[in-house]
Amino acid sequence: MSDRPKGGVHYPRSTGEFQSWFGTDADCLDYLAWLRWPQGFVCPQCENPSGWAVVGGSFKCASCKKETAVTAGTLFDRRRTPLTVWFAVCWQFATAKDGVSAQSLQR
Ligand SMILES: [Zn+2]
Repeated sequence: MSDRPKGGVHYPRSTGEFQSWFGTDADCLDYLAWLRWPQGFVCPQCENPSGWAVVGGSFKCASCKKETAVTAGTLFDRRRTPLTVWFAVCWQFATAKDGVSAQSLQR
């Protein structure tokens, strides 16, 4: 998963690309996971670098078995709105300006 998003370097270059990247909540979660753990999942509790994705957008640590939500600590945490909607709003906001970075999307 570490070398997937590229586009205009890690953000979509066009609305068409945006829609193909973020068509479903799962796509959005994948992207958030990738932003958060570009080298792959690392457990925030024990720093063990292996784990696996579980249903609902979380990762489970292979060592301490703690589940970490991809969205924990981000503005997407405890969301009531589908991620696709959030992403569309961020995208519109971002494209209203000259550029967008992964960091600004993450904020
Ligand atoms: Zn752990």
